[in-house]
Amino acid sequence: MTPKTLRKRIHALALDLRWTWCPKTQAAFAAIDPLLWEATNRAPLEVLRRVTEARLLACAEDAGFGKALDAAEKASAAYYGGKTWFDTKVKKKAPRLRVAYFCSEFAIHESLQQYSGGLGVLAGDHVKSASDLGVPFVGVGLLYRHGYYIQEIAADGSTRVLYPNVDFGDLPITDTGVEVLCPLGGKEVRAKVWRQQVGRVPLFLLDADIEGEPKAHRELTQGLYKGEPDLRLRQQVLLGVGGMLALEAVKQRPTVVHLNEGHAAFASVERMRGLMAKGKSFDKALEAVKASTVFTTHTPVPAGHDRYGAADVAKYMRTHLKAIGLSKEAFADMARENPGDKLEPFCMTVLGLRTAHRVNGVAKLHGEISRDMWKGAYGLDTPDDVPIGHITNGVHTRTWLAPEAEAMYTKWIKPKWNSADPKANPWAKADKIPLEVLWELRKTLRAKLVHFVRTRLARQAERRGEDPSEAWRTFDDNALTLGFARRFATYKRAPLIFKEAKRLAALLGDPDRPVQIVFAGKAHPRDGGGQELAQMVHKMAAKPGFRGRVALIEEYDMRVGRMLTSGCDVWLNNPIRPNEASGTSGMKPPLHGGLNASILDGWWPEGFDGTNGWAVGDESEFKSRTKQDAYDANALVTVLEKELIPMFYQRGKDGLPKKWLEKARRSLVSVPGTFNTSRMVGEYVDAYIS
Ligand SMILES: *Cc1c(COP(=O)(O)O)cnc(C)c1O
Repeated sequence: MTPKTLRKRIHALALDLRWTWCPKTQAAFAAIDPLLWEATNRAPLEVLRRVTEARLLACAEDAGFGKALDAAEKASAAYYGGKTWFDTKVKKKAPRLRVAYFCSEFAIHESLQQYSGGLGVLAGDHVKSASDLGVPFVGVGLLYRHGYYIQEIAADGSTRVLYPNVDFGDLPITDTGVEVLCPLGGKEVRAKVWRQQVGRVPLFLLDADIEGEPKAHRELTQGLYKGEPDLRLRQQVLLGVGGMLALEAVKQRPTVVHLNEGHAAFASVERMRGLMAKGKSFDKALEAVKASTVFTTHTPVPAGHDRYGAADVAKYMRTHLKAIGLSKEAFADMARENPGDKLEPFCMTVLGLRTAHRVNGVAKLHGEISRDMWKGAYGLDTPDDVPIGHITNGVHTRTWLAPEAEAMYTKWIKPKWNSADPKANPWAKADKIPLEVLWELRKTLRAKLVHFVRTRLARQAERRGEDPSEAWRTFDDNALTLGFARRFATYKRAPLIFKEAKRLAALLGDPDRPVQIVFAGKAHPRDGGGQELAQMVHKMAAKPGFRGRVALIEEYDMRVGRMLTSGCDVWLNNPIRPNEASGTSGMKPPLHGGLNASILDGWWPEGFDGTNGWAVGDESEFKSRTKQDAYDANALVTVLEKELIPMFYQRGKDGLPKKWLEKARRSLVSVPGTFNTSRMVGEYVDAYIS
């Protein structure tokens, strides 16, 4: 093949983000130039742009490379070849179904920094499973010039927030050539519509950063969750209203709109405007919009629900207020828990609730909490009557599965990746996996993680002007490895375990039974409290007793997430109950025989069955935060002392920790079969068509 042909073939594969869950295609990209592949955070188009012609020529003439490329293309053909679950099981029942899924962030891959955390990861995994299952589905979002932000931790532990300028030329997106004019405060914002193809699912992403447009418009897609509340409000007008206009412009007419979080709730208002322009009354338009809207709420934390001044909303949405015939107060009442209370702000979540017939939380417990939390908005006293259900989150298995686990999966579990079915559960067969096979996998993945941690620590030290050689003395391939990686939101309490510093240091420093902990997490750039938590972990990691056994990895992204969730033996989770709506990261370790040790919050009350991990503490709740922290920290360290560490180091004659591995295998048998996005999207399809 000629270098030109090679470029063409790689380019075509790169533009379909199916590669983000296809190890064969990733292997072909990596083979072009392994160092560049890593240096670009695995961005195939950037690799193509930067690779030398000499290197490309060598690849083009290399038979091994040719085979890798053939294998990638064959995998693609196989993916699109068969009939999908939707074709065979659903289409007859719902021939016209077309879903538009709105979200402010989509996490598809680490090379596309268009996400901040769990919401984006869930949206990305939802899209991927919708593609696997063949659901007629499109995503709608914004394309951010700086993405979220890049996190650096300085020598003193403070967070440095860096905003890179993303070169859209390096992203696997195509220009649809379509632009929309989104009404905003009496003016019109011009936005380009980009298309990002994720398997069978296109994402349509709006970009207002257009040469020559006013600054106030261009800044709307500068960054994700960046800027003042006023900017955030205007961004959400673009997402909801502009998003609907974009769908119209690319000739997508959804029969169902799924609002993933309240950020996009103005989409409902734009839909009402459209229906009323065609002659429907206000009531009929609202009824029609409601009947075709599904709304997912994602957090019980009050600050997670955007609230704006009624006057500001009326100012920016004035074209719509006029079109649907509402005054400022009447419009605000649609988004108030207590209509008529002029002091109450405009809440995007309440607007979502009022314009959707199906509303759900993201775990069983979160459904219960949400019914209680929003009973006022429905004018009800008893939570049981509140029409909010739950669809428990999941993860997209193929995205989170380490390639090293592939062989074990193929041999013992035999997953049929290309004929995904929401009800399929090949993991039930995992109880046949011999313990020594599982142990080998655990050792391989742990060693790989240890190497990754050292590499990252060395890089971090070098940047800070410190001695990088210490990094290579950090951690131990055979030590019990605990992981904690989450957004550093205050309720997640990253440094909680250090409340028992003395006991913890004794455990970590035991020469016969060593333990190590790896942390990662980004706080929101405006969340000083969250950044302090990062600083506390940073400082603890440097103290005698913890040095060399505790690591804080900067820039928690999907790559770091994959490394940690596959390599750790135990995944820690200690939020203040019941603030963790779901906590999907805990669903990733069980794919590799990792075990959860978690407060009974989020998905864990559903996932924990007494045999497949540990519940930390009981469900005791204290009014005093200090008491709660002390109680939970004690419970966490006690479970380490009494159960985890003894079990991990109890070895048989064959050197295996039999009891540990039996638990690990229970984790593999019982978690991934349920807590995956294929099951989850199946449940959403039921919600879409009922
Ligand atoms: C899985 C994942 C999340 C979601 O984790 P939570 O458990 O909800 O905190 C967030 N960020 C990244 C990078 C992830 O991989």
